[in-house]
Amino acid sequence: MSDPVKTREWCCCAGSDQAFVADCGHTQGVEFTLLRCGICGRHWMSLWFVATSSGIYSSVDDKALTQLLNLPEGRKGRRLLETMYDL
Ligand SMILES: [Zn+2]
Repeated sequence: MSDPVKTREWCCCAGSDQAFVADCGHTQGVEFTLLRCGICGRHWMSLWFVATSSGIYSSVDDKALTQLLNLPEGRKGRRLLETMYDL
């Protein structure tokens, strides 16, 4: 998998909305929300770190997107997120 772009501020297209795509649940104190840029349609994962009330955005490529949209239920899905995001 290519290295995702990681950023603290939303920095896709200037002035774009973040469209909600899916709630991917939470694990290890991190809340995962899949978003899409309202202008170019690129997908981003919002990682929100509950303990520090801070978050980052991580770009999502096509392969990762397929996995994220087909995330298994429960523990299996959480394990996959932990692997993908190195938690
Ligand atoms: Zn964009």
